[in-house]
Amino acid sequence: MNAEAKISVTPTFRAEYGHFIDGAWIGSDGSKVIGLSNPATGQHLANIQAGTPADVGRAVAAAKRAFPAWSRTSFEERQRILLEIAQRLRARSGEFAVMESLNNGKTVHEATIHDLPEAIGQFEYFAGSVWSLKGETHNHADLLGLVHREPLGVVAQIIPWNVPLLMASMKIAPALAAGNTIVLKPSEIVCLTVLEFVAEIADLLPPGVLNVITGYGQDVGEALVTHPDIRKVAFTGSTSTGRKIIEYAARNIIPQTLELGGKSANIICRSADLDAAATTAAIAMVFNKGEVCMAGSRLFVERAVRDAFLEKFVAAVEQIRVGDPLNEKTGLGSLSSRMQYDKVRSYFDVAREEGATILSGGDIATDTGLQSGFFVKPTILTDVHNRMRVAQEEIFGPVTSVITWDSEEELLSQVNDSLYGLAGAVWSEDLRQAHRISRAMQTGIVWINTYYNLPRGMPLGGYKQSGFGRELTWDLLREYTIQKSVIIPLSYSGLPPQ
Ligand code: NAD
Repeated sequence: MNAEAKISVTPTFRAEYGHFIDGAWIGSDGSKVIGLSNPATGQHLANIQAGTPADVGRAVAAAKRAFPAWSRTSFEERQRILLEIAQRLRARSGEFAVMESLNNGKTVHEATIHDLPEAIGQFEYFAGSVWSLKGETHNHADLLGLVHREPLGVVAQIIPWNVPLLMASMKIAPALAAGNTIVLKPSEIVCLTVLEFVAEIADLLPPGVLNVITGYGQDVGEALVTHPDIRKVAFTGSTSTGRKIIEYAARNIIPQTLELGGKSANIICRSADLDAAATTAAIAMVFNKGEVCMAGSRLFVERAVRDAFLEKFVAAVEQIRVGDPLNEKTGLGSLSSRMQYDKVRSYFDVAREEGATILSGGDIATDTGLQSGFFVKPTILTDVHNRMRVAQEEIFGPVTSVITWDSEEELLSQVNDSLYGLAGAVWSEDLRQAHRISRAMQTGIVWINTYYNLPRGMPLGGYKQSGFGRELTWDLLREYTIQKSVIIPLSYSGLPPQ
């Protein structure tokens, strides 16, 4: 290994985290702990609490107590606090990037150039958004109407393990901006950065405004979402858990925003810049180890350029170094957990059984310089048709299924033949064609001649079973507020004149 490329920042974090309730760290009612570890080495990092429904009750009660005062804070005050949170995160961004890498297995490079700036950006962006809550006036001849946007109350937020700090920021920033109080449940598998982040900013918020409960989804998730004092749930995770969240939310009729799974189509047309398309398709496949809801996991290549494209794509993929996530030269780190490792490897078998060809990869990676870890080679499958399991199911690893197409009509019927509809891309120098295809794709994001490029403020969210609601945008404040209409007659009192 190139020793100079190894990152030298040593992050500071605790050996054990409690739940964060009412401004203090407390142990769990059940007093069981869960270990967080480094998937690349097996090294133990910290213990967290395995929460219980009683812990959830305490957190929701604290958030409920804090709500009246927090909901009345001025826009200036909320903006100032959100900007200070961003500043605290920025001051320790090097440490947080390493922590994210240690617990998740992603490369420290990706955490540094993506996760941290994007997480900081959420607080800065939503700090500015508070002014959009100023309400509306309706001026009619003889009456004045006011539309207020009021915060909802205590909101439940549940997030996954793939980009935890950014996911937490995407949830916390808009909810605070809108004047809500929060009970957040991060993933029990990867949440070190979320807990250390909360420790870092604890003094900036009044007690009870932000509470964090850790533990297994089954044990605390249902208790949280079905708690009678919860006014909304925001969930990011798998489609199967999302379905349960909808059922829980139905009990007290609370609104939901759901960011769920994906199986995104990356489409290569004959006129594409094949060099740019091949290099970017490799990134779309391996970024964050493919553990991304928007990963380019179905690669639709027009037959006329199939061989030329695949030659470049294989070359780009085979250049990617698999190994130590802390080495800045590494392109693909460790999968996040044994569960994910077993799942991804099982799809190598599924691919073989279904008759796909493994053009590259299809195996664990042993040449990593580390003794253990959940490393797999980036894997390209060809001879795939869209109804195969490898093209329909979310693998959530660095695996792409190549599907060849001849006509646009046939292409679009396959692209849209998916349970999911989160993101996708089209590569074509013929802009009319690119726009035509982008309009026909049933998906929340379409990139043209790029991938994973989402300017701040543009909405993220799914069609179909990828969920509903849009994040990253000011419109999200609509989901965290409720409208109230106030009507004032100006020229009469009581009933309108007949
Ligand atoms: P998951 O659904 O297993 O878990 C997500 C969270 O839900 C975790 O905190 C978990 O503890 C909790 N949970 C589990 N069971 C629960 C239950 N019964 N009640 C309440 N909470 C419960 O998902 P995961 O494996 O952590 O994450 C990967 C999934 O997340 C993938 O499907 C991916 O596509 C999706 N994801 C989507 C987006 C998006 O923006 N659409 C972003 C990131 C990840």
